[in-house]
Amino acid sequence: MSEDERFMGLALREAGKALRAGEVPCGCVVVKEGRVIARGWNQVESLKDATAHAEMIALTAAEAALGDWRLDGCTVYVTKEPCPMCAGALVHCRPERVVFGMPDPMGGACGGWINLLDSNPPLNHRCPTQGGVLGDLCAEQFRSFFREARRAAKQRRADRLGADANNHDESSSD
Ligand SMILES: [Zn+2]
Repeated sequence: MSEDERFMGLALREAGKALRAGEVPCGCVVVKEGRVIARGWNQVESLKDATAHAEMIALTAAEAALGDWRLDGCTVYVTKEPCPMCAGALVHCRPERVVFGMPDPMGGACGGWINLLDSNPPLNHRCPTQGGVLGDLCAEQFRSFFREARRAAKQRRADRLGADANNHDESSSD
């Protein structure tokens, strides 16, 4: 197993925390000199904060750990290709590298839909990225989340229909 795969495995572990909390399972770790200095998992629903993506939480934690907003020499591992908000934040924090798992051709901002990490100029930092590290495992975690979400939505619909039918029965028996 390569070092990138090992750290992506730790990002997947963070994503597992999101999954167990009923959140879209995205996880992130920030690594410097072979050591994890910060972790984050998606907490949009828990915190009722649309900006609480795994990367945003991990970047803030990494800045706190280093006492600097510049993430010099850091590599950011995240289970899904970062969105435009997170890619923008990454450019501002200036890590050395970004490694992601599942590519996102629809909304990814690291080469999937657009590439904000390689837009210098006009942005002030260019950051090499690598996608597809443990990509299948990351993608399977997302698929299992959305499968379960669809199943739960179907169940809720069935329960509602059942309740309506019961109400109807009661009113018609009078
Ligand atoms: Zn994001």
